[in-house]
Amino acid sequence: MSSEQTPDQDADATGPPSGSTAGSDAGDGGGEDEFHAFWADAVADEVEERDPNEPIVIKGGVSPSGIPHLGHFNEILRGHFVGEVLRERGHEVRQVFTSDDRDPLRKLPRRLADADWNVVELGDVDAGALGKNLGKPYTAIPDPFGDCHDSYGEHFADLLAGAAELVDVPVEVLSNTELYQSGEFEPEIRTILENVDTAREVLSEYQDSVDAGYSPFRVVCEECGIVTTDVTVADLEEGTVAYECTGITAGDREIEGCGHSGEATLRDGKLSWRFEWPAQWSLLGVDFEPFGKDHAEGSWPSGEDIARNVLDIQPPVPMTYEWFTLNGEPLSSSAGNVVTVPEVLELLEPEVLRYFFALDPNKARDFDISRLDQLVDDFDRFERAYFGEVDDEELTRFAERAYPFVVAGRRPAASGTESRPVEEVKEDRVRLPYTFASVLGMVEDRDLRVQMARNEGHIPEDAGEDVIEDALARVERARAWAERCDNAYNYRLQTDLPEVDLDEAERTALDDLADFVAAGNDGEAIQGRIYELAEEHGLETGDLFAAGYKLFFDKTQGPRLGEFMGELDRSFVVERLRREG
Ligand SMILES: [Zn+2]
Ligand SMILES: [Zn+2]
Repeated sequence: MSSEQTPDQDADATGPPSGSTAGSDAGDGGGEDEFHAFWADAVADEVEERDPNEPIVIKGGVSPSGIPHLGHFNEILRGHFVGEVLRERGHEVRQVFTSDDRDPLRKLPRRLADADWNVVELGDVDAGALGKNLGKPYTAIPDPFGDCHDSYGEHFADLLAGAAELVDVPVEVLSNTELYQSGEFEPEIRTILENVDTAREVLSEYQDSVDAGYSPFRVVCEECGIVTTDVTVADLEEGTVAYECTGITAGDREIEGCGHSGEATLRDGKLSWRFEWPAQWSLLGVDFEPFGKDHAEGSWPSGEDIARNVLDIQPPVPMTYEWFTLNGEPLSSSAGNVVTVPEVLELLEPEVLRYFFALDPNKARDFDISRLDQLVDDFDRFERAYFGEVDDEELTRFAERAYPFVVAGRRPAASGTESRPVEEVKEDRVRLPYTFASVLGMVEDRDLRVQMARNEGHIPEDAGEDVIEDALARVERARAWAERCDNAYNYRLQTDLPEVDLDEAERTALDDLADFVAAGNDGEAIQGRIYELAEEHGLETGDLFAAGYKLFFDKTQGPRLGEFMGELDRSFVVERLRREG
């Protein structure tokens, strides 16, 4: 459950915070505390202790507002890793993700993503038309992008499923609306309505405003289409309810009802969130569900209670994960602080993203785009640890267990690409350090990139073409990162000599520098020499650097120039400093 789910809650939770967490110290329930280097093993132990039926069902879910973003992958990927561990242990596993799309739209999102993942502001779509749909289920709202999907809800769910494929997770996205419309939810709804007094009593321990008139079932008004709460049972045998369209509260404002009174079937409405979640567990036979901290203190305790005491089922094994922040700020659809999976995959290999979610779920982390170089460095170290190349026992234990799950995705055949089993990740692979790949991103010429990487010893002389090709793939991503962050690597080496206007002192200083480079000095020495030459020729240091930047980047500023020249082909640098080509 992602936190976007919360809008459908009726009121704040008043129940006690749950102590139920499963993480690296899970397994307490069984009395056997086997040490696991990978948290997913500990969770899998707990799931096995339930003695589950096959297939084991792992669930997640979200209410489809705004943009499907990286935050949703907390539970998609964490559920996936637990699923993979269980599959390895010989179980059949079904991973589902519900699009809780009969939830009413309560607030217009600030940003949306079109079918090609272009993120647009609300003002770029017909916000007026969208605004007329407040209070209606997402699947009853027209697609804001025209006719690419049948509804707002379907548009969102389709994007989310596509993003899951990009990180090699074969997740089955289920539409809540379909579960209601098809009648599949009816047994759960009946059980809750048959035991409505118990249902109210249980819920009242967690939520204020649950009185004798409270209905766990809401109806989509046949006149105006909003999800209305004023519902009474008419004939449970027949499966009908009576309702009056009196409007709903959405956050701090009221959505007015049309006043219509009518009858509806159990397929024409939805359970309130507090009941819908445990009803999903019952209907789908959920064995395991990860969710964010907000739910641990909110709808999990009531859901667990409702599962046991109203629906008479065993609730799934829970796992609370810590939220990660994005660039130091909380993830927020409404504030627009989100990043999508396709955006991230322009900057990182899918396995690096999978690695991020393979880390301990109990630890709060920041996904800092400006410091993605650190995340990639950590992944590279984790990978080296798997191959026994790092002297760190704890990391090596974690990597030995988790790395195969991180690199070997189960990309569905439909995606047209193949995932790579761990056996195919060769020990002779070359991972260019991300910041070095960013330096290579400053030059466009492939041969020059290879040569620079060889000069620095990153590509061994005997490396095969496929190894080189794999290694260079990171350069494009590092280049995209430099451009996105407009950081110290966001420069382009000019292949042709730019037009430069130099005075006599600058020309002789550059000639001297060319001689110094030609003599075989390294980058650090070249950097130092630029300062000396500025002084020797009576130039401002900044002016001499600016002349160099003009020559190499056609800009007046750039990266550490001496070091950069040290990475390049020597004869190219000498020629360029002499303004010969
Ligand atoms: Zn669409
Ligand atoms: Zn109405």
